[in-house]
Amino acid sequence: MAVLAPTPRTTLKRAPTRGSHEIDTLHRILDLAPIVHVGINVHAQPAIIPTFHLRIGDALYFHGSTANRMFRVLASGEPACVTASLIDGLVLARSAFHHSMNYRSVVIYGTAETVNDATEKAKILTGLIEKLVPGRSKDARAPNETELKRTLLIRFPIVEASAKIRSGGPIDDEEDYESDIWAGVVPLKTVALSPIRDDLLPDSIPQPEYLSRYLKEHQ
Ligand SMILES: Cc1cc2nc3c(=O)[nH]c(=O)nc-3n(C[C@H](O)[C@H](O)[C@H](O)COP(=O)(O)OP(=O)(O)OC[C@H]3O[C@@H](n4cnc5c(N)ncnc54)[C@H](O)[C@@H]3O)c2cc1C
Repeated sequence: MAVLAPTPRTTLKRAPTRGSHEIDTLHRILDLAPIVHVGINVHAQPAIIPTFHLRIGDALYFHGSTANRMFRVLASGEPACVTASLIDGLVLARSAFHHSMNYRSVVIYGTAETVNDATEKAKILTGLIEKLVPGRSKDARAPNETELKRTLLIRFPIVEASAKIRSGGPIDDEEDYESDIWAGVVPLKTVALSPIRDDLLPDSIPQPEYLSRYLKEHQ
């Protein structure tokens, strides 16, 4: 079991038994998270901005416009903090105090860099589309030179990071177990609903097979 060495910043304080620095655990949560939130400092004003991401090996990749403030700040070498959260359930305890959520989350501290190599950039941009819906990159028109020039690709290392996981039922105070208040967990998951065809799509174009596969896997 490979782990990242905890640092003073990534040492869990409250409920530390829910913490993990195991690399596989960190990677699994980051891969399942549909988005991450990127925390940056802009003139001493913290800003936390959501963005789409792809993990490859021990790094996260973000892409966006060269005019994007968050990416420009990251590209300038400012320290940042990235978080990912999966919400697995609502935990309804007998007491209001012990209500909680089941979750898997990751916090990463680090400094980003820009990916400029054209081949690497093209490969990672393809990976970002594949993460959305596997198979889509072979169908969609590939970015042209102008689009590539207008796209900033950022690499954020996963070397100083922690995970935290809560699972299971409510944990109530001993005396509350005698009460007749309903308690338990409401599991939550994200599902894909039926696709809505673009109004401008000719009727002759069928739903792609890779999309049908995706829908089956995300019901
Ligand atoms: C969906 C969700 C809902 C939550 N709701 C609540 C809530 O309502 N009330 C509440 O008190 N807590 C909540 N938490 C837990 C919260 O994220 C922190 O774990 C909690 O604030 C502990 O803070 P601390 O002072 O012990 O640690 P801090 O000093 O804030 O953190 C120390 C270090 O521990 C690590 N760490 C702390 N929290 C996490 C985490 N969640 N994931 C990964 N690494 C972490 C980081 O490396 C951090 O730098 C929630 C978490 C999630 C994912």
